[in-house]
Amino acid sequence: MNKSKVMSRNSIVIRKWNLSSIFKAIRKQGPISRIELTTITGCSAGTVSNHVRTLIKKGFVIETKKGISSGGRKPVQLMINPNKAYIFSIEIEVNQIKIVMFDLEIKVVMKSVIPIIYKDNYMKTFKQVFLEMDKMIEEKNLKLDNLLGIGVAVPGLIDKVKGILEFAPNLGWKNVHISKIFKDSYGLPIILNNEAKAAAIGERGSIYPKINNMVFVSINEGIGCGIFINGKLYRGASGNAGEFGHIIIDTNGPLCHCGNRGCWEIFASESYIVNRYLKLSNSNKKLTKKEIYQLGKNGDKKIIEIFIETGRNIGIGLVNIINGLSPELLVIGGGIVEIKDYIYDEIIKKLKESALSVSYRNVEIKFSELGSLAAVYGMADLIINERIKFI
Ligand SMILES: [Zn+2]
Repeated sequence: MNKSKVMSRNSIVIRKWNLSSIFKAIRKQGPISRIELTTITGCSAGTVSNHVRTLIKKGFVIETKKGISSGGRKPVQLMINPNKAYIFSIEIEVNQIKIVMFDLEIKVVMKSVIPIIYKDNYMKTFKQVFLEMDKMIEEKNLKLDNLLGIGVAVPGLIDKVKGILEFAPNLGWKNVHISKIFKDSYGLPIILNNEAKAAAIGERGSIYPKINNMVFVSINEGIGCGIFINGKLYRGASGNAGEFGHIIIDTNGPLCHCGNRGCWEIFASESYIVNRYLKLSNSNKKLTKKEIYQLGKNGDKKIIEIFIETGRNIGIGLVNIINGLSPELLVIGGGIVEIKDYIYDEIIKKLKESALSVSYRNVEIKFSELGSLAAVYGMADLIINERIKFI
């Protein structure tokens, strides 16, 4: 490649990067003036002016006069045109699927949760998802042109580039070409991601934008993590870094879906709570997680004991993560947040007891604020950032 080609490729990359950071600043801080945008993004006045002109021309940004007057003429303020385009965010969980439509400001427009009835037949499951999506599109009276893209978060290992879910142990799904399945039906850009990574992106983007070293531990039927190092999501060579649910904490422990024995998630996930209750209650009727949580909250002593035990087991894995990575912030998310009041003390007790004090002193432990919506927020964020570069 000759020098001028390299130069022009670089300038295209810079243009895209500037455009998306200007858009992001308007989304997060708008209404905002052009002058403020130059300070926040570090772009020159000319660059801001050019990109804003494009964003307005394409209808993504609108001018408003809501600005605070500082004596003279009111500065023109810029804000996102929320209804210019919409995004679908879909989170496939182990027993249910969330389908959320967001507007451009990443506000929830519509939301639907459907149970996974045909676990052994994923195509049938996706057809149910499409029905829900079609209903939403119709209700909002949208055309496919009004949609920026579809983000899909899954509880398993993925090939992000090919858009394939390689293995979801808790669903029993292998080699599902998710991007292709959605593309064949809607022809829209698709981004596939692991749910814990999507949730980490959502939580950091919305709640902790300034924290650079953070681990998000998503505890549902299994456990997955999203790791931010120096402000960047760490994916590792395979793209699947963060599978701390499968660190082995008991080599003689029960068999895990992954083929090993005694993985952390066997002892510290929501499945552990369900299975442990089944075992201790000597009953043949398997209660759902929801039922167990409710009984626990109503004061069932046996269940509260299981919550406490789970908290301790969660703590054991967190000790390993904190000792290994020494993050500034560790956020616990996923369905387990529902019983945070029962597990928090046990987690902290275990960390104080076993984590290296230098690492423990420097980490803050929080529960997810976005809760069960963290992953869908993260996917909407990814779709917007990816698509806005190409307008
Ligand atoms: Zn495992």
